[in-house]
Amino acid sequence: MRFLISGAAGFIGSHLCDVLIDAGHSIVALDNLITGSHRNVEHLERHPRFELRLVDVSRDFSVPGPFDGVWHLASLASPKDYLDHPIETLESGSSGTRNLLEIARRDNASFLLTSTSECYGDPQVHPQVETYWGNVNPVGPRSCYDESKRYAEALTMAYHRVHGLKTHIARIFNTYGPRMQLNDGRVVPAFLDQALRGEPLTVFGDGKQTRSFCYVSDLVDGLCRLMESGERYPVNLGNPLELTILEFAEHIRRLTGSNVPLLHCPLPQDDPRQRQPDISKARQLLGWFPRVELEDGLRRTIEYFRGRLDPALVSATAPPS
Ligand code: UDP
Repeated sequence: MRFLISGAAGFIGSHLCDVLIDAGHSIVALDNLITGSHRNVEHLERHPRFELRLVDVSRDFSVPGPFDGVWHLASLASPKDYLDHPIETLESGSSGTRNLLEIARRDNASFLLTSTSECYGDPQVHPQVETYWGNVNPVGPRSCYDESKRYAEALTMAYHRVHGLKTHIARIFNTYGPRMQLNDGRVVPAFLDQALRGEPLTVFGDGKQTRSFCYVSDLVDGLCRLMESGERYPVNLGNPLELTILEFAEHIRRLTGSNVPLLHCPLPQDDPRQRQPDISKARQLLGWFPRVELEDGLRRTIEYFRGRLDPALVSATAPPS
């Protein structure tokens, strides 16, 4: 099959490209590299079934079809990045989604939107089920991300209802793994970078807020299963193992062998207090559940980050055993 993927040079996008190329498909990859990195896909660049185009999907662009499927992953997914670029974030969810839906409509292709657990905001229902409508501050600093994804979901459903498009919506919870950007400010790269350099771990607030972390290969497997399914309504994809940020910091210290202290910093505005996906729907409909244990996934990620850091900056911590 021939696929169009936006955000293909990003963290999740580049792993999706690897899986689809390995499965024998052809890919036209779009990215404007605002947060993606050439390096994430450079190993694919000479592949005869892979083509990278430097395109901002929020602007007018054309790409010759036909495609069998369109995957829309382009977005600024880290709070630091979307707070730095709120307008671009809103545009990738609005114009970007519209442009990609139009291509899917042109080619009668399947369409998959990568949405987010941020649609639930600071949730009052726990764990979060897809039928929960969320608790989002529409004018707070995070709203550029949350509301653009909520709009993108609404637009996707409208294209399905009006044009009969075969659409899919994945609500992705916190995901981690190799190819995350070292400096994107999210807790996984931040803690790993700090632990490996021997610097204090910056815990925001009291660290009692919770997150649930899914390894990237599990997530990509869920996306592929969803694209093949007939489900049109949102499906949560994430790992239900819920940890406080303090517990997470302990895992990082243990697995990096680094005894760095914690440094408490102010909690960002509207930072969700708790987050855990209810994945009953994905289990039932897609036969999907995460398989990679946190410890295993973190070891693989640590190995990647060690390789990326300048050896002169890596403190003399024990290598992961
Ligand atoms: N966080 C932290 N220290 C950091 C970065 C993040 O304590 O250096 C916290 C953040 O406040 C949030 C959680 O870790 O409660 C996850 O943050 P992240 O930015 O990774 O993703 P989010 O789930 O907020 O989108």
